[in-house]
Amino acid sequence: MLKNVLQIRMPMVCCYALRQGDAVYLIDTGFVGGAKVINRALQQRGWGDLQVEGILLTHGHLDHTLNAARLADEYGAWVMAPEKDKVLLEGDFSGDAWGKVGGWMQQAAALVLRYKMADDIIWYQEDTSCDLRVEGLQVSSLPGHTAGHSGFLYQGYLFCGDLFASHDFFTHLPPSIFNQNTVAAKSSLLQVAEMDLEGVFPCHCDRVTPEVHLSRLLQLAAAQK
Ligand SMILES: [Zn+2]
Repeated sequence: MLKNVLQIRMPMVCCYALRQGDAVYLIDTGFVGGAKVINRALQQRGWGDLQVEGILLTHGHLDHTLNAARLADEYGAWVMAPEKDKVLLEGDFSGDAWGKVGGWMQQAAALVLRYKMADDIIWYQEDTSCDLRVEGLQVSSLPGHTAGHSGFLYQGYLFCGDLFASHDFFTHLPPSIFNQNTVAAKSSLLQVAEMDLEGVFPCHCDRVTPEVHLSRLLQLAAAQK
């Protein structure tokens, strides 16, 4: 485990904080109640007085983006999100192409939970040369779950968003009702399996090391062939 990475767990999903010097960057922002959980987790880790400089979103689904606007305001942080998920970030989950049933479920949740898009989002592209404003962090485009779904590569580790869900007895691809393109999602999984990685940080997972998550990912990829 990288010492400067903090996993922040909440019901259904987790997100991550990455520390560099006196700056902290959030990778995704979790779901209901997430803002409080994130604040508390940063305090408990002793990072509460550090400046949260930026928020990076792996994709436009609500269980990753719900708290981005609020936290960006609270911390005075910038927000970066994949340009190809702009429609989702804008709060439109309804179209047939946006995961069908899953799209409508999110549309309802967005209404009930009063989803608000963060102001002044900086849109990143899928190419690896894209500047993420965090030293050593690089975009790894992993489309399928959503068109813009991306991972972030950092020192041999990959923040892999919803590329897969990693649980002891049930490691799986995201359910197809939540994917824009499950075939592409599988290809992205196989692509990551070919990368030379030390570990991965998924957003739906149990508490094991990133190295164990990676070994599960490799098994899941092998089972797809
Ligand atoms: Zn998702």
